[in-house]
Amino acid sequence: MTGGGVTDRTVSRTGARVERLPLARFTTLGVGGEAEVWSVASAAQLAEAMEQPYRVLGGGSNLVIADEGVPERVIRLAGPLAERDLTPDPGLSSADEIVTGWVGGGVPLPGLIRQLQKLGLSNLEGTVGIPAQVGGAVWMNAGTRYGEMFDGLHTIEIATPQGTVQVTPADLAWGYRDSGIPRNHVVTRVRLKLRRSTPEDVLAKMDFADQARKGQPKMKTPGCAFKNPGGVSAGRLIDEAGLKGTRIGNALIAPEHANFIVNLGGATAADVHALLDVIRGRVAVPLELEYELWPTQGQP
Ligand SMILES: Cc1cc2nc3c(=O)[nH]c(=O)nc-3n(C[C@H](O)[C@H](O)[C@H](O)COP(=O)(O)OP(=O)(O)OC[C@H]3O[C@@H](n4cnc5c(N)ncnc54)[C@H](O)[C@@H]3O)c2cc1C
Repeated sequence: MTGGGVTDRTVSRTGARVERLPLARFTTLGVGGEAEVWSVASAAQLAEAMEQPYRVLGGGSNLVIADEGVPERVIRLAGPLAERDLTPDPGLSSADEIVTGWVGGGVPLPGLIRQLQKLGLSNLEGTVGIPAQVGGAVWMNAGTRYGEMFDGLHTIEIATPQGTVQVTPADLAWGYRDSGIPRNHVVTRVRLKLRRSTPEDVLAKMDFADQARKGQPKMKTPGCAFKNPGGVSAGRLIDEAGLKGTRIGNALIAPEHANFIVNLGGATAADVHALLDVIRGRVAVPLELEYELWPTQGQP
């Protein structure tokens, strides 16, 4: 970083855009300090970015990033790795089912789901309302009780430190909110496997799935804070501990739903961590965090 808030910007050997940027702008919570951000638009650029310690950033919808930022490179998928080709592959598609062209890992999931609805293509509408990118959603098999990412995948392209591989879901030990893909292997592109339906039918299923979100806060948040311990609602436990509406700095335990911490504007990661500590201190049952903390949890 140079003085006066000017951002360093360079182009790497293979053409990746490299900038020191605050990560807050890339997260749904809106907190997080600076890092060296590599925007990669090709396999060669990604391979170069992966030569040094790195982290992969998707839609930033499951992250609380420290106010100090992170020391590793932060990789974002851009250009063709954030584009989609939904044309049915004639060799793999039938009257009932289609297999699409490649959809980049950097494609925002909500827009893709809307587009599939308009095309009357079914299988992924259960993931409506998840503000992820395709790569991040595949990596953790994001979903709801109405469906998950692995309902609609044909092929997954993954960049590993040893090179790029293309696999099918059958090749992976995937399960509940887990793709079986190791951390820091990068989901670069996927081909979708979709059922032909009608826009009306897909929309009806999306609306139904969306009903479950009615009580969720609309403010900046990284989603649910804690997993439900042993099937008990974490939100209810936090509510019963009297913590709804608790505020530290500019972070708040949402009055609408106690398992959501929201940013009132200008919150810091320290505010959020302090609230998480308050919850852990007041709820008798041990609670496991739902979102990822950078850099305090998980290895790059
Ligand atoms: C309002 C709200 C509602 C939500 N509802 C749901 C829900 O109903 N169901 C649900 O499952 N989740 C939900 N989430 C959580 C979140 O959207 C998911 O966990 C999602 O999968 C995160 O994807 P992302 O692209 O935002 O990843 P990020 O938050 O950017 O990163 C999360 C992890 O994925 C890794 N990652 C990101 N991109 C890639 C890639 N291309 N290749 C490999 N690894 C990658 C990162 O390194 C990191 O480890 C919600 C979040 C919010 C804010």
